[in-house]
Amino acid sequence: HAKTEGKAQIAIYTEDLDEGRLRRLEIEGQIGSGLGAEEFDVVYQPIIDAVSGAIVSAEALLRWPRRAQGALSPDEFIEVAEATGQIHPLGLYVLERACREIRPLGELCLSVNVSPAQFRHPGFERQVLSILERTGFPAHRLQLEMTESYLLANPGLAIKATEALKSAGIALALDDFGTGFTSIHYLKSYGFTHIKIDKSLLTGLEAGNKAAMLVEGAITLANALDMFVIAEGVEREAQAEVLRAIGCHEMQGYLFSKPVPLAEFMALQQRMKRQAARAAGLRSAR
Ligand code: C2E
Ligand code: MG
Ligand code: MG
Ligand code: MG
Repeated sequence: HAKTEGKAQIAIYTEDLDEGRLRRLEIEGQIGSGLGAEEFDVVYQPIIDAVSGAIVSAEALLRWPRRAQGALSPDEFIEVAEATGQIHPLGLYVLERACREIRPLGELCLSVNVSPAQFRHPGFERQVLSILERTGFPAHRLQLEMTESYLLANPGLAIKATEALKSAGIALALDDFGTGFTSIHYLKSYGFTHIKIDKSLLTGLEAGNKAAMLVEGAITLANALDMFVIAEGVEREAQAEVLRAIGCHEMQGYLFSKPVPLAEFMALQQRMKRQAARAAGLRSAR
């Protein structure tokens, strides 16, 4: 195809490619030294019970401040880490650190993102279970999030790879639901217990409109299959209202809090507990 378009274009194409490759190589090197120097941070975003408004869970999200060159977004560096295999140590680092940091915070659940490649790594399940053992984090409060690319990358193998984790009591969530083509029935058959509705589905959400009907349909089906629905990227109170009305179980988004460092997350948890206690006090005084 490029051949027919002449030399000039080929040259530009190659140059672009080299620049991209160079950048990836540079990032690859920095990930390696960053991991050793513990340059990676973990931030937490609260997941809210739609009915009570209480924080029920925290999603751990990687951050890489790269002090010298400036921060790089996880979408960018995780893609490189997946290509180089560095996602294995990086993924275990996030999991262990989050389990250790969240365990003292009481009844809270923890949700951690896992790349498809991590499941193909022999011993992944064993490593997860040994992290739980080391940190004392209870399996039934851990949830692993993966995207549809997991099912595409592991056809046939998908069920087997997660069997040990499921039987240990770990929950499996499909992240970014609605960006691909997977049906909820199919997800159920793969052992998923939770569905996270992608923020792109919430954009035009308003009571009674098409977007709301679509999300409501997904919730109804999920309920019938005993699955749990979390909406991500909730930014406006109007969206939260619609979601509550159509029976969404949990919500996450900037409306409640952006992902924050552990200390800030703990302060937020305390503040919300006091608020809930005050609200309960007002109710009983009435
Ligand atoms: P994700 O797992 O779907 O995480 C949700 C993303 O949406 C996060 O972006 C979060 O900061 C952002 N977000 C949350 N609430 C809102 C909102 O109300 N509005 C908008 N516009 N955005 C919101 P983030 O932290 O940049 O992470 C991007 C993606 O990188 C994640 O998407 C996940 O796929 C991946 N990622 C992050 N940390 C890890 C990790 O430890 N391991 C793996 N494998 N992937 C990770
Ligand atoms: Mg996620
Ligand atoms: Mg998501
Ligand atoms: Mg995502």
